[in-house]
Amino acid sequence: MVERISHWIDGKPWSGVAQRTGDVFDPATGEIRSHVDFAAPEQVAEAVDAAARALPGWRSASLAARTRILFAFRELLAARKHELARIVTSEHGKVESDAAGEIARAIENVEYACGAAAHLKGGFSENASTGVDVYSIAQPLGVVGVISPFNFPAMVPLWFVPNALACGNTVVLKPSEKDPSAANFIAELFAEAGLPAGVLNVLHGDKVAVDGLLEHPTVKAVSFVGSTPVARYVYETGTRNGKRVQALGGAKNHMVVLPDADLDLAADAAVSAGFGSAGERCMAVSVVVAVDPVGDELVARIAERMGRLRVGDGRRESSEMGPLVTAAHRARVESYVDAGASAGATLVVDGREVTVDGADGGFWLGPTLFDHVGTDMPVYTDEIFGPVLSVVRTPSYDAALDLVNANAYGNGTAIFTCDGGAARRFQNEVEVGMVGVNVPIPVPVGYYSFGGWKDSLFGDTHAYGPEGLHFFTRTKVVTSRWLDPSHGGVNLGFPRNT
Ligand code: NAD
Repeated sequence: MVERISHWIDGKPWSGVAQRTGDVFDPATGEIRSHVDFAAPEQVAEAVDAAARALPGWRSASLAARTRILFAFRELLAARKHELARIVTSEHGKVESDAAGEIARAIENVEYACGAAAHLKGGFSENASTGVDVYSIAQPLGVVGVISPFNFPAMVPLWFVPNALACGNTVVLKPSEKDPSAANFIAELFAEAGLPAGVLNVLHGDKVAVDGLLEHPTVKAVSFVGSTPVARYVYETGTRNGKRVQALGGAKNHMVVLPDADLDLAADAAVSAGFGSAGERCMAVSVVVAVDPVGDELVARIAERMGRLRVGDGRRESSEMGPLVTAAHRARVESYVDAGASAGATLVVDGREVTVDGADGGFWLGPTLFDHVGTDMPVYTDEIFGPVLSVVRTPSYDAALDLVNANAYGNGTAIFTCDGGAARRFQNEVEVGMVGVNVPIPVPVGYYSFGGWKDSLFGDTHAYGPEGLHFFTRTKVVTSRWLDPSHGGVNLGFPRNT
């Protein structure tokens, strides 16, 4: 029996009949699990109207009342994290322990939002001028849109939704159509936590839903995460329509290994961050930059570890890496393996020959390693978003730095070295938004903010943490004087502070 997944609007499942739907697969079997309704412009309007109706009540609810609901949501999410992890695995394919990790990182963001009251305090300057006080207040924007990708169906929505709500906004969330169930689960938990109807709505669909949000005059801001071409489009269209937009795009993350690095640590990190979630992470390591003379030894240690990885159904505890999300995505990633081999890169481990602990129809592709990759090859220039790791060799630290800085993307990078001075130089000189030192491409903790540079982020505000609260509020500055008997009468000169 194929399930139907529908929108969550005004505190309940949408009861209409969709004109268009999409297939949602179980990537480990290749079978269709469910059909998801795709929003037409009428459903976009319904969701935005519900959010607009809920806005006056929610923005005027006290900070204490708003954060109390976030605390309750945090408790429910922690209590039901295994259930949510299973949902993520069944539609995305990542192994359950990895899905649980994504939820743990999501909970961090909810916890940060629970403390929003402390962060939303404005400034106050008593006696800025004689008898005049000046203070700032942070107010919500209104109805905001959140558009998320398939690869973190629980975490990425929760990068934005908790902070947006804590700030007093109401939200329309448009998750990926490839794994839509996590968003509904989250919305139901919020309702159980006491969130009033209409404050958080989930709209399913594709470009039609996204365009509807980008064009709707009531939507004041959009937070987007996805591939670079769509991020650029969302940024340009949203800002053209007068909205505040942060659009996080794709990545090609380089891990630089200097000759003095601990090579076992570096090889562990390259394999963990290269093949975790089958490489479908925006913070995956996709390029190892081996600075001479470490290349041969490093490649051997990486290949040895790859030989022990167990690929299989994410529901099995023995599996370390699951399938890719769809057959189409699998075919695209495989085409890069073909292209890398024909471009002349050395295919050290060929994932097309993988043996799998799972159903024949699953979207499997094993971990793949290329050595001697050239920077003009598509396997290097393009974001592959699969279990394909490329090793590029460079003669020096400077050549490695130039390579990273010349890349169009700037999401994350890492350096492996025992030389503190080299690491410090790298963190200063590299043109990338998030840097790891002996840590493979770290996702910053919830009280910092997440965001790349260059083609990895359009807009000027990063996601979650302090920048998230900044994104979801606008400030007002009030200059006030309470009547005193000494006012000086009419004066047409420009006011000076005395
Ligand atoms: P995607 O760009 O295909 O889709 C993202 C969202 O945009 C989805 O909700 C989708 O329905 C919608 N969408 C797709 N095509 C559209 C179009 N033409 N017009 C309007 N909307 C459209 O991305 P994906 O495949 O779901 O996710 C993987 C991508 O996301 C990778 O490029 C990855 O690097 C990136 N990503 C980036 C970050 C980050 O923080 N920078 C985090 C996670 C994922």
